[in-house]
Amino acid sequence: MVSINKDNQQAITNVSNFISMQWQEESNRYINIDYDSINKTEYKINCLSEQQYVCCYCSREIENTPTTELEHIIPRSIHTPDSLQRYLDFSPILLNNIILQEDFRKSTEEQNTPPFPHHIAYQNIVASCNGKIKDTSENITCCNRKREDTFIPPFNLMPKSIKYLKDGSIYYENDEIDNRFINSLNLNKVLLKKIRRIWFLFTASGVTLDDLLQITTLEQIKEIITLHIDINPLKTVADSTSIHSFKNEANWKMLMNYKYFFNYFIIPNH
Ligand SMILES: [Zn+2]
Repeated sequence: MVSINKDNQQAITNVSNFISMQWQEESNRYINIDYDSINKTEYKINCLSEQQYVCCYCSREIENTPTTELEHIIPRSIHTPDSLQRYLDFSPILLNNIILQEDFRKSTEEQNTPPFPHHIAYQNIVASCNGKIKDTSENITCCNRKREDTFIPPFNLMPKSIKYLKDGSIYYENDEIDNRFINSLNLNKVLLKKIRRIWFLFTASGVTLDDLLQITTLEQIKEIITLHIDINPLKTVADSTSIHSFKNEANWKMLMNYKYFFNYFIIPNH
């Protein structure tokens, strides 16, 4: 899972400037500082760039298109200090930059920023896929929309908190109850595990990422899978069926969208 520093000074300045513009001197209040009032295109471009164009949760590739969505780490529905604090406790970035939207909005004096109101704080917003893995009309099955407003720790702001195993599963090492936070995002769904397992086998085979990205034809797909996965000492009986399902152009293309995992598995000692 991508780790984000949230230190884009231009993005921070843009939010400060926006908030400053919304201060009404005559009536001593802020107007239109809600999420509907901000320039979401700008947020999306900044998020994509700092996340290296991968989804904040599943790590698939995402682009600047309508299927890429903005995700609030602290959901907009949060409105009490206690529920906010639960997030702040996990991350200095949040602790130092975020206050409740409502607390900021009701200010009767112009405020210095940071802290920013949580609905529009750049530090609280990341880019997510829309939860549909295939191009078809599949139901939403993971990530931002699957989560809805459920509490999960701010993983993207907690470096090395997420691990992937060789079998393709993902876990949060401090999750004391049955991987519940990962389950809220459905990141251990069967297809995602299979995809990550294939990437593990590729990295263990000695093939390079460049070799894989140059593959275009069905013949090449079959050949490279046979050479590097079918004939792989780490391959198990359980892998066989799953491997076969990637020997077509559509699923190969889907697999390549998760090339983030090549670099993950190839670097030891996470
Ligand atoms: Zn995703």
